[in-house]
Order: sequence, then structure tokens, then C-alpha cells
Amino acid sequence: MSRLGIILKLAPEEYVRDWRNWIAPAAIAGTLIVSLFLAVIVVLILEAMGDKANEIDDSRAMSAAQTAVMSIRRRLSGTLEDNAVWHEAVVALQSDNRKEWMWANWGSTSADYQLYDGVVVTDQDGRLLGGYLKGQEFDAVAALGDAFVKQVLSATVPNQPAIINVFRLHDGIAIAGSRALQPERNVPSDGRFNVLTMIKLVTPEMIDSVASNYFLPDLRLAPVKPTDQLSLPLTASDGQPLAYLTWPGRNLGTRLYNEVRPALTGALVALGILLATAAFAGYAELLSLRRFATAADREATRDPLSGLLNRKGMIRALQARLDQDDGGTGLTLHLIDLDGFKAINDTWGHLVGDELIGAVADRLVACHPRLEFAARFGGDEFAFASKPGTDPNEVATAALRALKAPFNVAGHTCEVGASIGYATHVRNMDTFELIRRADMALYGAKAAGRGRSLAYSSDMDRDREATAELEEQLREALDHDGLTVAFQPVVSAGDGSVVSVEALARWNMSHGPVSPDVFIPLAEKSGLIFQLGDMVLERSIRFAENRAGIDVAVNVSPLQLCAPDFADGVAALLEREKFDPRRLILEVTEGVLFESPVQARRAIDALRAIGIRFALDDFGAGYASIGTLRHFTFDRLKLDRSLVQALESERGRAVLNATVSLAEALGIPVIAEGVETAEQVANLRQMGCQFMQGYYFGKPVAAADFDSLPGRMARAG
Ligand code: C2E
Ligand code: MG
Ligand code: MG
Repeated sequence: MSRLGIILKLAPEEYVRDWRNWIAPAAIAGTLIVSLFLAVIVVLILEAMGDKANEIDDSRAMSAAQTAVMSIRRRLSGTLEDNAVWHEAVVALQSDNRKEWMWANWGSTSADYQLYDGVVVTDQDGRLLGGYLKGQEFDAVAALGDAFVKQVLSATVPNQPAIINVFRLHDGIAIAGSRALQPERNVPSDGRFNVLTMIKLVTPEMIDSVASNYFLPDLRLAPVKPTDQLSLPLTASDGQPLAYLTWPGRNLGTRLYNEVRPALTGALVALGILLATAAFAGYAELLSLRRFATAADREATRDPLSGLLNRKGMIRALQARLDQDDGGTGLTLHLIDLDGFKAINDTWGHLVGDELIGAVADRLVACHPRLEFAARFGGDEFAFASKPGTDPNEVATAALRALKAPFNVAGHTCEVGASIGYATHVRNMDTFELIRRADMALYGAKAAGRGRSLAYSSDMDRDREATAELEEQLREALDHDGLTVAFQPVVSAGDGSVVSVEALARWNMSHGPVSPDVFIPLAEKSGLIFQLGDMVLERSIRFAENRAGIDVAVNVSPLQLCAPDFADGVAALLEREKFDPRRLILEVTEGVLFESPVQARRAIDALRAIGIRFALDDFGAGYASIGTLRHFTFDRLKLDRSLVQALESERGRAVLNATVSLAEALGIPVIAEGVETAEQVANLRQMGCQFMQGYYFGKPVAAADFDSLPGRMARAG
């Protein structure tokens, strides 16, 4: 499978599920909907305004028509009032020349008179006494019928206002008003009188005059109610419409609306274009944002150097995988830590280191066919998951084998080993617990000696808990003066005199002492080593202050030596205590000189500059590199106890001899450690070893007991 092939691809559903990614589309859609809604409302408002304007204009026209009809009736009523209260007329109508009088006063005028077109006189029983229409004799009872008789009979009562009704006359319409004909204004109303009726014909001329006076253009008289025009019925006394005054509505609102419609349409089209552009731009922006987010997310979950997932990507991939089955997937997570990668980086440079990372990634991905995904956690830490049903030990072994073969990178042949820890996913275990277990196993694999793989077991947790508890107790002890310092003499091989002491930290718990081989690494791991180192250094100075002529050697952890403020801290302490720096020896081991050469050199140089001397501790137990001796200047070389113990053998003696000769050649005085027997003393002295330290001369003891040490020193001499 290719490296890329097992990199987790980001699921697009994840993007879809995240509600925040929907804010922008929702905002765009919302804007579009609201804008559309507003546009529809504007159109509806304008239409409603047009309709309302039409309605207002129509009702104005209707009241104008009503007023016109009313005014015609009022005028007829006024004319009747003028003619019907007339003493002379009453007298004349009772005389014999009634006809002549009627013709002279009313008949002749009816031919062409503005106020009326006809005049009719009837008696109190409704019988015709005489009548004229347009200058012609006129039988109104015959022409106007029963309705007319009914009207004139109602009008025989005096002092009443005229009764006016609309009538059909021949092909036209007439308005006729009737009123009692009385001699004077107030006559006794119990009598009945003749009735004067005046008729006004509704002619086209009359309609035209109403049309122009009341601003009703195209006013016409129609026999039936038109459907498409406004109309006012002219009704007979029985309520039956006889004809209709009709006129077209002006539809002012509609006209106004039609007038603004082009502009409105233009505005709506412009708004549409604007919205479409905005929506398109928003959509395009959204697409690019989405692409950007997806790319950024992919970036954020991938390690650019190896092309594998990074820690975040791995956690996400695991979570997605484990979510599929909380009953335990059987998936195994392997964590891999490279050995010696840092040295390659330091020796060949970062470019080679980077290429090596790529090559390691390729080999890991290809080491076994049943891997699910691989990741680089940063630095020289890798991880991969192997599929359920695969023997995890077989996979781990394959990975170790794959990494063991030398790499050819940028023309250099590099060798790296690895340690692997792995854990298998079981029921109810979350991603972080799986990672934690694999990490515990990796820690165990490294502690057990590199180049191996180890499966997680619950013992690891127990050990860890015990370690955590011990760490807490160490913290307590340091805070409450629970640690002490023992001093072991270093004697001169020449005269057996004590030349210096080595300060050694001691921790006595209620159940017995804890070995420095246990609590020193613990202090280093937990960061307590700084506090511990300060304490030992202070007590050592106090010890040496009272014992002139004895120098003091203090062990320094690599962590202390590499701390940026270490040299300043030591210098300040000596200054404060007024202690001669030349009486202090700091013991360092070789490891730190390989692992952090720059920091180690900086501290050593700074402290040697003020007179402090340095001893290379445990020489012969580790690399025993001549290069180290040459590159760093040491004032003492401490031969490891194992070299001294090996004196019994021929080969051991040869090695020791060569080592002492080497130191001699470099001009570095030698201290032999762990000297326990007189034979060892004799041998060492013969080889030219200048100083010795060991149980033979004195075990490490508390400061108070130091002076009463039952000395073997004399025997050295
Ligand atoms: P080291 O610096 O090599 O110290 C010498 C060790 O050899 C001491 O062990 C000492 O007790 C032991 N020893 C001395 N003479 C003999 C002998 O004749 N026979 C045998 N079998 N052993 C002998 P110890 O005290 O257990 O310390 C172990 C290591 O812990 C030290 O090795 C040193 O690396 C570290 N250590 C002790 N105290 C301190 C401290 O204050 N700071 C730091 N950083 N490391 C310390
Ligand atoms: Mg030492
Ligand atoms: Mg030592």
C-alpha cells in the first residue's frame, strides 16, 4: 500500500455536520428571501394604492352624480314653490278662461324654457284640468299613468313640499314634481286643492350640462345597468330603476400605477440583478472558503515532512475508527520511537534528518500488509495501527526488521534502530486510553533496552502508580529536609591522605534506604533534580568549609548541566558562601557530552573559567570515548568500578593499564572508583593511578561521622 493510500481522507460529511459552516449559506439565502419578500410587498402596496385611488375617485364621481340629480330635483321643487303659491292662478283656474290663462302663463313658456318642459294641472281627484309639454297640449294622466295619478293625489294637501318622482315618458325619462296649488302660503291644511305638476325632460343636452358641471366626462343615460361602467339608477316611485346615469370610471390609480410601472419594473430588475450578483458572489466565496477550510483541515491533520497524519490527524482517525464499534475493535496501535535519530541529525544536519524521516515513513508503511493508517507524532516518533485479527507482535517485529537495515540518505549510510510499544483496543476504551497504553508500552520497551517491542500489560500501570507514589514521597522528602548527603573520601595513591570527598545523596525512608540508582532517575524525570542538586551542593560546601585541605566533588545530572542558568547559579552560590571555586569538582558522565555537546561545553567552559574543576565520571562503563577526552578538557578521570573489578583478569588488567596510560598521555589525573581490596590498591598504584576511592578506604558516611571514620588511609601509604 502506498504511503498516501493509508492516510486518512477527511470525510466531507464532517464539514456538512458542522453547523458553523451553514451560517454563510443561510445568511445569503435569508437575504435573498427577505429581498424577494420586500419586492413583492412593494408591488402589492403600489397595486393596493392604485386600487384605493380608483375607489376614492369612483366614490367622488358617484357623489357628484347624486348631487347633480339632487340639484335638478331641488331646482324643480323651487320652480314649483314659486308657481304653486299664487293667488291669481287659483282664481284664474276657477274662471272660464282658465285655458287661456294656463296657455299664457305656463303652456307657451314650456316650449322653450330652462326650468321646465311641461306643466300639468289636476283637480283634487286627480282629473286633468289642463296640460302642456314643450308648447303642445299634453295628457299627462294618459302618458304617465297610475303612478302619476298616485303622486298628484298625494300632493292635494296644501303647505307640503313638492313630491318629485322619475317617470318613463314615451322613449325617454322625465322628472315630474307635484304640489298643491294654493292662494297663499299658509292656508288651513284640512282642505284639498288642485295640484300643479311641472315636468323636466332628461334630454341629452341636460346630461351634457351635468357632465360638464359635475366633471363627469362621457356621462350618458342607459336603459340597463352597464357592467363595465359606474352608474346611478334613476328609480320610479315604486323603487324600480327606469334608467341609469352611466359614466366610465377614470381609474386614476390604475393610470398612475401604469405610469410608474416601467420605473418599478426597472428597479425590480436592477434589484434582481443585484441580488443574483450578490448570491453568486456569496456562493463563489463560500465555495472557496469551503475549499480553503477543507485544505486547512487537511493541512492541520497531516505531517508535511513524512506525508503521514500528524498527532491530531491520528487521533481523529482513531476516534472515527473506534466510534464504529465500542464493543472493542481489536485494532492495535503501535507507537515507534527511533533510536539514534538525534545523533544523525546533529552529525549530518537537518536536511539528511528530514530525508531520513521520509525514508523511515516509507518503510513503516510498507512493512506489513495489514496496516490501517500511519502517523508521525513529531520528532522521531511514529505510529501506526494494525488491523484486527493481525498478530501485533508479528507486525511490530516486521517494523523493527524494516528499520534495522541501513538507510542510504543523501549519499550517507545511516543506521537507526527503534523501540515499539503497542496496545490493542478493547471494549469501552477511548482513543486517549489506547494511546496512553501504547505509550506506556513504548516507555517500557525503551527502559528494557532499546531495539525491542513490548505489548502493554496492566503491570505497567501498577509500576507507574508505584513510581508516581514514590515521586510524591521524594517531593515531600525534599521539601522537609528528608534527604541527606553522605561523603566518601578520595585518597591520594601516594601517601594515602584524604585529598577530597565525593558527595552522594541519601534517602532513608522508614522501611530502609532507597538507592540513588532509583531516586536520581526519578528526580530527573520529575524535574526534582534541580532542587536535589542545589541541596547537595550547598551541604557539600558547608562540609568542606570546615575542613581545609579537602576538596569536594559533587555529581551533576545532565539535566542540570544543560539548564541555561546552571553555571550562573553555581557561581552565585559560591560567591554567596565565599567558597573557593578551586576546591569544587563537578562530576559529569559521558552521555550528556554526546547528547547535548553545545550546552555541556557552554556550562563547563563558564565554570572552569572561574576555577571549578571537572571530573569525567564512570569512564569505561559507557562509550569510553577518546574523542570526548580530547574535545572537552577534564581535570580528573574517574575509572568506573567495573574496570577496577575486572582487574582480576588478564584482559581487564590490560584494559585498565591502557586507560591509565591514555589519561596520562592526555595529562589527566586518574581516580579509581570502587576500590575494595588491597590487591586492587597495589595494582592500581603500580599502573600509575594517582587517586583512589572505595569501601577499602571508607564508605560514604554522614558529615558528622566523617571525621571519626576508621581510616584505611594509612594502609594506602
Ligand atoms: P557515582 O557518581 O559513580 O558514585 C559512586 C557510587 O559508587 C556511589 O553509589 C558509591 O556509594 C559507590 N561506591 C563507592 N565505593 C564503592 C565500593 O568500594 N564498592 C561499591 N560496590 N560501591 C562503591 P551510590 O551512592 O549508590 O550512587 C550511585 C550513583 O547515583 C552515583 O554514581 C551518581 O551517579 C548518582 N548520585 C548519587 N548522588 C548524587 C547526587 O547528589 N547528584 C547526582 N546527580 N547524582 C548522584
Ligand atoms: Mg560520581
Ligand atoms: Mg562513578
